Amino acid sequence: MDFKIALIRGDGIGPEVVNEAVKVLDRIGEKFGHSFTYTDVLLGGCAIDACGKPYPDGTTEACKACDAVLLGAVGGPKWGAGAVRPEQGLLAIRKELGLYANLRPASLRPALADASPLKPETTAKGIDLMMVRELTGGIYFGKRDRYDTEDRGVECTDLMAYSEKEIERIGRRAFELARMRRKKVTSVDKANVLETSRLWRSVMHRLAEEYPDVQYEDMLVDNTAMQIVRDPSQFDVVVTENMFGDILSDEASMVTGSIGLLPSASIGDTAPGLYEPIHGSAPDIAGQNKANPIATILSVAMMMRYSFQLPAEADAIETAVDAVLAEGWHTADIAGEGDPVGTVEMGRLICEHI
Ligand code: NAD
Repeated sequence: MDFKIALIRGDGIGPEVVNEAVKVLDRIGEKFGHSFTYTDVLLGGCAIDACGKPYPDGTTEACKACDAVLLGAVGGPKWGAGAVRPEQGLLAIRKELGLYANLRPASLRPALADASPLKPETTAKGIDLMMVRELTGGIYFGKRDRYDTEDRGVECTDLMAYSEKEIERIGRRAFELARMRRKKVTSVDKANVLETSRLWRSVMHRLAEEYPDVQYEDMLVDNTAMQIVRDPSQFDVVVTENMFGDILSDEASMVTGSIGLLPSASIGDTAPGLYEPIHGSAPDIAGQNKANPIATILSVAMMMRYSFQLPAEADAIETAVDAVLAEGWHTADIAGEGDPVGTVEMGRLICEHI
């Protein structure tokens, strides 16, 4: 099959890790008989340098003309925190492509179980959960206010609002994903306090009836935060609203170890999905062939699975990554014996194992 992929290499280590991911794509194409064609799209700091805007005109159209988008990372100290910032490009692309579901898998690579801060008896049970975070609603997008009061000084409010429609579309994503995995959904809320959570819960219960083959449970957010460190093996798909998901997905990623290993996907209903590592542009190591390309390479595996419906190709990438790590190869950010390998070498090793 033929697929078009928009490449947003970005800034810092972004171009370095995307280069290795492209080699992996080409290797997958060769092995499984697909053709991947690439369109380079400028976004972030490099776009500010080239045309003065972090999200140049035509970016949305260029991405929509592709089947998926692969992004390295954007930002860096060079562009400061002024009125025009690289990160504005990131917010713009998520909004323009209508990417309302953020998927962050937290899975422990068997060879790196030692990197987890959890006890060995906890990691021995395995960690393979998928955090599904609502990305475009809730308190981060609600109305804000700041005003003076007579007796309490300045007062502020942030409104958390959710509609049935917003909850239903993210809920459906979670149930559909669970069907592709171990068929369990944990819906996280604070229904003992918040009205939005009570609506969230009622919509999820209605959906649960539509997916009788998927095991369903409600969990309060405070309990979830505790259970993720107590026994993360109990989770398959965890679905939650924007702010709870922001916090819990960082917690879940930490229990699996290095930041250089974790992929993510943001998807909507029609536009192409956006696949990117969770790390930033790491300006401290940019241009030194030190960046770990695995998070970006695993983002390509997610692209195969969720945008292209190619699970065997996704498995081939993930198995190759695990095999390379099991042989003891590691970049500088991962603890290991012997000298670390560089970005390019790690990419080459993974291609060789596919
Ligand atoms: P960062 O993730 O870039 O770096 C944090 C630390 O982790 C650094 O020590 C870095 O060297 C290391 N690291 C990150 N990725 C690595 C990799 N693949 N291999 C080896 N080590 C790696 O976070 P930061 O320093 O807070 O942010 C740097 C810049 O990146 C900022 O401008 C920030 O706004 C931007 N950022 C962008 C994104 C994105 O593009 N989605 C996400 C987060 C931060």
